[in-house]
Amino acid sequence: EHPRTQGGAGHSGLTVLAGPTAVGKGTVSTYIRDTYPEVWLSVSATTREPRAGEADGVHYFFISSDEFDRLVGEDAFLEWAVVHGRNRYGTLRRTVEEAIAAGKHVLLEIDLQGARQVKAAMPDARFVFLAPPSWDEMVRRLVGRGTETPEEQQRRLETAKMELAAEPEFDVTVVNDDVKRAADELVSLMGLTPHARQA
Ligand code: 5GP
Repeated sequence: EHPRTQGGAGHSGLTVLAGPTAVGKGTVSTYIRDTYPEVWLSVSATTREPRAGEADGVHYFFISSDEFDRLVGEDAFLEWAVVHGRNRYGTLRRTVEEAIAAGKHVLLEIDLQGARQVKAAMPDARFVFLAPPSWDEMVRRLVGRGTETPEEQQRRLETAKMELAAEPEFDVTVVNDDVKRAADELVSLMGLTPHARQA
């Protein structure tokens, strides 16, 4: 079977998961990493510092700003973006293309700017928008900790509103009402069978 037709519905073997900042993309992709070895989850390169518990080559390739510049110069990224106005994150083109060519079920968990770049380069990919269960829940997640100033909270809400408006650019929406349920729905969309699990 030709790789471009794998995964059903005329999509390539590539699925892109994106969505608003506080929607829990990271939690869904971590769950998938731990539960679905049949999903080939792309490991991005980033200039940010590793957090406690993050391993180089597992969660990210942690690289210097100079190294990132070099890779940009070599056109090594399928997409890359500055996220939250701070650090750079990018998807390595070669490993992703090889995995797709090998017929793997490839998943990218990236931000909206990156998703748009992938859509321009690979329109046959499957684009999945991860949405919050409701606007109120999103507000709760964004301001819930109470550690931000009212101005910062306002800024985050404006950003969230803009990010939610991107939903129509996507093929399908998955609502993150429950991490396991959302992950199973995503895996189904990728043409895989969700695992049976205990309640
Ligand atoms: P974090 O620093 O919390 O791990 O990730 C911050 C944001 O970066 C998340 O929204 C995540 O989707 C995004 N991100 C992670 N890897 C990539 C990537 O390779 N490209 C782009 N465009 N965004 C990424």
